[in-house]
Amino acid sequence: MASEFDLIRHHFSRPTRHTDLAGGDDAALWQPTPGHQLAVSTDMLVEGRHFFADADPTDLGWKSLAVNVSDLAAMGVTPRWALLALAVPDADADWLAAFADGFYACAEAFGVDLVGGDTTRGPRNLSITICGEVPTGAAIRRDGARVGDDLWVSGHPGRAALALWHLRDRLPLAADHRDACLAALHRPQPRTALGLALRGRASAMLDVSDGLLGDLGHLLDASAVGAQIDASRLPDAALIAACGDAERARQACLAGGDDYELLFSAPLAQRDAIAALGRSLALPVHRIGTLTAPAEGLTLRAADGTNTALARAGFDHFTA
Ligand code: ADP
Ligand code: MG
Repeated sequence: MASEFDLIRHHFSRPTRHTDLAGGDDAALWQPTPGHQLAVSTDMLVEGRHFFADADPTDLGWKSLAVNVSDLAAMGVTPRWALLALAVPDADADWLAAFADGFYACAEAFGVDLVGGDTTRGPRNLSITICGEVPTGAAIRRDGARVGDDLWVSGHPGRAALALWHLRDRLPLAADHRDACLAALHRPQPRTALGLALRGRASAMLDVSDGLLGDLGHLLDASAVGAQIDASRLPDAALIAACGDAERARQACLAGGDDYELLFSAPLAQRDAIAALGRSLALPVHRIGTLTAPAEGLTLRAADGTNTALARAGFDHFTA
């Protein structure tokens, strides 16, 4: 059986591009860009909780890094360096090679150097720490939203939930939408280009990992505002086309997790610029509502103008 060091050398020692000293020593060394802040974040994926034992290892490699890249995108931060702490039950060379391929595919796509990590035997667990850079003061935090700002979301939140229901509960999906849903679940695309372009435009932002309403709650809390979501503006047409069920599509869009789209607020003066940005990135951005006074809480406005309160603690209704 390969030793721990053979395993690291073989699978996790590809060349780096912007690191002075990567894996092999007791610590990695790099030069931060002058005038920038470092941003750091970590995320853990646990077998049985975040992924199934038989999950495709290449997809898992991609996703484990992608969700970390997404956290930086959600603050307008350029991803640069990552550390991989890996527990695996055995040194299964095929599994490790496939995992490394997915991981490095994501690293290359987003300009990330793998600079070190830790490897141990144990129940499969993938813990990644990512570090990125942002011009000092330019990061987009959760606490900058103002009453009257527009609320926006990128892409088609809900696709990953439809894919999960398809795989787990045999929810039928239209053939021409199935691949897009499965890709959203297995190969989430961090919205880094959008996140960076929103610096100086968005007032607050986060990525949707646990469901649009749940994550919106974090932004509303941090910024001390309420929100009114306009039901007719939710980007659920593609979801309805996929599953043929408007109510399911609504549930997936508002409460489905794992899509890693960006949810952000911006002043009205930014409307045209943000719409143009979406077109130039070929990534749809949807203006789904307005931020309100905190006392108004979180409401959903139907096409007929009626408002329904969405109780913060009452989202169970949407979880399937
Ligand atoms: P130490 O005992 O000094 O903590 P380790 O034996 O844990 O060092 O790791 C040896 C080297 O290999 C270190 O530079 C570490 O960063 C790197 N490394 C260990 N595991 C991984 C991994 N999964 N991916 C990338 N680099 C790794
Ligand atoms: Mg170590």
